Amino acid sequence: MSLDGDYDQANVFALILKGQIPAVRLYEDEHTLAFLDIQPQSKGHSLVISKWSQARNILEMEDEALAQVMGTVKKVARALRQALNPDGIHIAQFNGAHAGQTVFHLHFHIVPRWAGGPLGFSAHAQGAFADQAELKALAEQVRANL
Ligand code: 5GP
Repeated sequence: MSLDGDYDQANVFALILKGQIPAVRLYEDEHTLAFLDIQPQSKGHSLVISKWSQARNILEMEDEALAQVMGTVKKVARALRQALNPDGIHIAQFNGAHAGQTVFHLHFHIVPRWAGGPLGFSAHAQGAFADQAELKALAEQVRANL
């Protein structure tokens, strides 16, 4: 999908927000939701989305929604640091299929990094699926630091 187009009400993050498909949730407030990525690039790979904005990418995002999402990105990044003690934290966001975006509801990735581990973002949504029990245990560990 290019940078232009309509918001798909049935995109996977819209379905998570509606509770129609499960997600391992880390944090939510009135405006934002953070949850663990199902095909993580590293342990603790998390995603943050707006609950109300229907922006598909940052070019469409309302400033208010962006500020709300970034507040949650910071909060969750700090909790991931406390919980997992990474050496670095990669925060990423992709706009349009040609930039690597695969889900067209704006989201930020928070990817803990460790010394000696990979630096780049490998192909999205093509890695191994995480074990659900491991994700739930990890989420408890992160939530304890929020
Ligand atoms: P994008 O490529 O659009 O920047 O990132 C989409 C991300 O969403 C990918 O990292 C992919 O693994 C993740 N993802 C796709 N479907 C699901 C899902 O059903 N649940 C969760 N938790 N993550 C998903």
